[in-house]
Amino acid sequence: MKSSIILAAVLLVSIISCAKDTPQVKHKSNMSSSKENLKNIQVVNEEDPVCHMKTGEFLKDTAVYKNKTYGFCSAYCKDEFKQNPEKYAKK
Ligand SMILES: [Zn+2]
Repeated sequence: MKSSIILAAVLLVSIISCAKDTPQVKHKSNMSSSKENLKNIQVVNEEDPVCHMKTGEFLKDTAVYKNKTYGFCSAYCKDEFKQNPEKYAKK
């Protein structure tokens, strides 16, 4: 009998902690801090391999390919790169 009570308690705690996992306020602060984090990221490419814009100035998104971090000016270029990484990830 005792063990079933403990089991129920553990289950309840895990459900509650799961519900607390995604507060909306946290998500907002993550969005603003991610912009600053991108400036500190070292990318292997000096320019966007898709549109050739300078990643140092226009870095908005990154993708990791073969353990290298590539920088992109936008999510569009990142998607383009991911669809055909062999074509863009030369050097
Ligand atoms: Zn681009």
